Amino acid sequence: MTYPVMEHFYTLQGEGFNAGRAAYFIRLGGCDVGCVWCDVKESWDANAHPHFSLEEIKFWITGTPAIVVTGGEPTLYNLTSLTDVIKQAGAKAWIETSGTNEITGDWDWICLSPKKFKAPLESELAKADELKIIVFHPSDLSWAEQFLHHLKPDCQLYLQPEWSKREMMEPLCIDYIKANPAWRLSLQTHKYLDIP
Ligand code: SF4
Repeated sequence: MTYPVMEHFYTLQGEGFNAGRAAYFIRLGGCDVGCVWCDVKESWDANAHPHFSLEEIKFWITGTPAIVVTGGEPTLYNLTSLTDVIKQAGAKAWIETSGTNEITGDWDWICLSPKKFKAPLESELAKADELKIIVFHPSDLSWAEQFLHHLKPDCQLYLQPEWSKREMMEPLCIDYIKANPAWRLSLQTHKYLDIP
């Protein structure tokens, strides 16, 4: 069993519920969502990235507290073997996904970030521990509300200004959250800190 990996690195999770926590990122290659504002377009072609074995991945992550599996769109792959290895290494398994395919594997935290460019599966929305909406346009705020009735009652709700539009979207998100306090603000703190 191997997975195509675009990059892997140990850093702090910059955004969402686990922001500020140490985490080892594994960015899988391959994405079928195609967001216009994607900041990792080089991840889209799965064939452009080398494959690594579970043994190699276990070597990278051993001794780290949590693993963020991201992409690309990681649910393009069956992730059961990957979460098995993460658990064997004694780490927490966290995933960042658009929810466009079945989320396989045993996850300690599922961050689901639905995209307008390919709808998430209703079945996968119900698994989310965290819903993270990337706010690129003012209409994204009302668009976000459609997902709420599919979620677990304790799912954490985040609005995250898209980085290139942040000067315009941050004030809109702040005003929206003041009027709708079930939501919280997520900032891409790793970009402010200039860390991976
Ligand atoms: Fe980029 Fe993620 Fe959107 Fe895929 S789902 S296009 S990797 S932002």
